[in-house]
Parts: sequence; C-alpha cells; structure tokens
Amino acid sequence: MDITTRLHLLDTARRAYQADTALSAADRSFHRSARATAQALVTITDCEEQLAATRHLSQAMAASAALDDARQAHRDCTGRRRKADSRRRRAFTASRRANRELAALYRPHARGRGTGGKRLSSVTAGLLDELVAMPLDLIQAADVLLVQSSGGKDSLVMLHRIATWAARAGCTDKVVVVHCDLGENSEWPGVRKLAQRQAERYGLRFVAVDSTGGLLGLVEKRGMFPDAARRLCTASLKRDRANVLLTEIVAALGLDRQVLVLNCMGLRAAESPARSKKSPLSIDTRTSNNKRLVLTWHPILDLSETAVWQTIADETLEYHPAYDALMPRLSCVFCVLAGFDVLVRAVRLCWALDLPLPEQYTDLEARIGHRFKDQYSLADVVAEARHVEEREGRLTWTRGDALRTHLGGEAAAAYLERMADYESDAYLERLTLVV
Ligand code: SF4
Repeated sequence: MDITTRLHLLDTARRAYQADTALSAADRSFHRSARATAQALVTITDCEEQLAATRHLSQAMAASAALDDARQAHRDCTGRRRKADSRRRRAFTASRRANRELAALYRPHARGRGTGGKRLSSVTAGLLDELVAMPLDLIQAADVLLVQSSGGKDSLVMLHRIATWAARAGCTDKVVVVHCDLGENSEWPGVRKLAQRQAERYGLRFVAVDSTGGLLGLVEKRGMFPDAARRLCTASLKRDRANVLLTEIVAALGLDRQVLVLNCMGLRAAESPARSKKSPLSIDTRTSNNKRLVLTWHPILDLSETAVWQTIADETLEYHPAYDALMPRLSCVFCVLAGFDVLVRAVRLCWALDLPLPEQYTDLEARIGHRFKDQYSLADVVAEARHVEEREGRLTWTRGDALRTHLGGEAAAAYLERMADYESDAYLERLTLVV
C-alpha cells in the first residue's frame, strides 16, 4: 500500500470516528430529552391530582396555572425529543455510511494485516504504526510540519530529530517551529530567544505565539491555580493559541485540497504514566476536518532522559542554563505539576537570579485566597527554601552541571569544549544565569 492510500484510509477512518462520536453525542442528547419528557408527564399527573383534591377557589386557580405550565413544559420537551430523535437518526445514517466507506476502502488491503474484524480502532492503529515506521515518506507527504518547542531539552532533541529527517527528505521548507511564549512572569529568562536560536541553527522558520498575562495572568483572572485534573493552563496558554496559528498557516498555503499537517511534540513516555499511554502517531480528531488532516507526532516518545542528554552532548545542542542549576524541566518557573523539592529549588534559583517571582506568586496566592496546591501553599515552599538557604547557603552551579550529573564529567568537558567553538562569543554572552 503506498503512502497516499494509507493517508486516504486514515482520513476515512477519521471521518468514521467523528461520525461515531457525533452519533454518541446525539444518542446522549436523545436520552436526556426522553427523560425530561417522562418527568414532565409525572409533573402533569401530580398537578392534576392536586387540582382534583383542591377545595378552595384560590388554591384551585394556582393548581390550574401549575397544570398549564406543566403541560406547556411537556409540549416543549416532546418537541426537543422529536428533534433529538431526528438528529440521532441522521447521525446513525452518517456513521453507518462512513464506516461502510472505510470497510470498502480497506478490504482490498486488509489481507495479512491482522484486522479481520475491521474495527475502526484496529484499522487506524495499524495504519498509524505503518506510517510512523516511515518518517521520511511521512514528511514528504506532509504539507507542513509544526514543531512545538518549549526550548527545553526534550523539545530540543525532538527538533533535532525532525530537522535531520526533514533535511534528508529535502523538506526543510515545510517545517515551522512554534514557541508559545508565556512571558517573564511565568518562565525563566531567555527561553524565547533560546528557542529561536535552536530553530535557526537548522535554518528553520520560527514563530513565537504570545500569551498575554502568562500563568500569573490566568490565575489572577480565574481566581485559582490550575492543577493536574483541571490543567487549563496548557490548554489556554499553549494549545488553543497554537491551534489559531495552525489555522492561519493552513489558510496561507492556499491549497484547494485537504492539507496534511504533522504536529510534532517532544513528549516522552518515561515522564509520567499518562504520557506512557500516548501513541507515537495519532489523529488529532479535535483539530482535523475536511480541510486538514492533523496528525500528532511524538518522535522521541521512546527516549529515556539519559538518551536525551546523550543526544544533546553528541550533537552539541544548546540547552538552557537553568538545567545546570539542576532544574529538571524548563517549564513555568512555578509549574503546578512540579514536586515540592523542585519548587523549593525554583525559589532558590529565582533568588540567585534576582527574579521577583516568588514574591509575585505568594502575593497573588494571598490575594485570591487559593493555595498553589491542595497539599501546600507557595508560601510553604518559600519558607522551606529559606530554611535550606540557611543550612546550605545560596544556590550555586557551574556551566555543564546538567551534563556532569547525567553523563559524567568527561562528557560535560567534551561538550563544553565543542560548544566553545560553536558560536562561542554569542553563547558565553547569553549565559547570564551562570554564577
Ligand atoms: S508548565 Fe506547568 S504551569 Fe506552565 S502551562 Fe505547563 S502545566 Fe501549566
């Protein structure tokens, strides 16, 4: 099966999936309206009984009015149920048509693929597995590759992988590196410029998307901090804005056919149980439509943290100095998903760099009356950071400490030597974080 056929099948699977989802939603809506209709009928019976039992004129008038209201409510519910029923029938027909179309398209290619049942999920998973094993063909077939870069170590290695494949496929011009800039009140200094330099090293187009107010602004507006269960920060500060850009980029291509977008992210399975369940390649059913098929690609899903640092060392990639202060991730300075010890270290790093963030965040916490986390407040984190500083003194680090920790002194020394050759003046100038 050639790649065009695979992608056509995948888009047919996407339509079948969306039709099935629409059918489930229509089904739920019908059952809701049916329950409301039944309840309205019960209310009518109650009102009729009350009216029959009433002896006084004023009470009879009130009961009669209530009965009229109940009958009207029942008529409204019945109307809604009829509409929901016809929506459900239409959704059922669309779902059946989409699934039949998929089965008919897939049948000639099904032999030997072990998907005899032709279930939508197994057909889709099989196609995605095949596509992820042929990255150069996938890149050649794509119209645009978006590389979502935070500027952190995982984004950096993912960018290196994609840029290398794109160069081999002769498709560097299709790659756009997207950086969501959360601003100085959320992130460590220099992240945006670093992300830009990382992209420019490969000659790739770089686009920064601004997030007005950043995490601090979001918390101020909502009056509460996000948490792992309600992680609105990622959606509203990053994903939603990146999706607006995606729409603009697709429109700018001006193609009168469906566009294939590869949306690349630097997630790794080893980072968390949730991430370990991700697939290397999946259809973004939320963003895909008849104008664009968006595939979410996790090209470094299988890499360990050591492998990431090894690639950085081997390829002399420029990483953010916050890693040398042994911050494990280049996320928001006070990420709501970070553990207590990491947050304590972040506070100490802010103090070492003269950043006002600990004060700004603890002030905000006091003002809105909502704790940073259920288990502890940021004020608790700051208090612990003070104790640690009393015991250990100010936080210090030296350039290359991240590599020393993960790969050993020899690897760090070799990296620093090579890095000194690589745009040395500019690099040293930027290392303002190192004391
Ligand atoms: S880095 Fe943490 S706090 Fe910042 S947007 Fe992501 S999850 Fe939210």
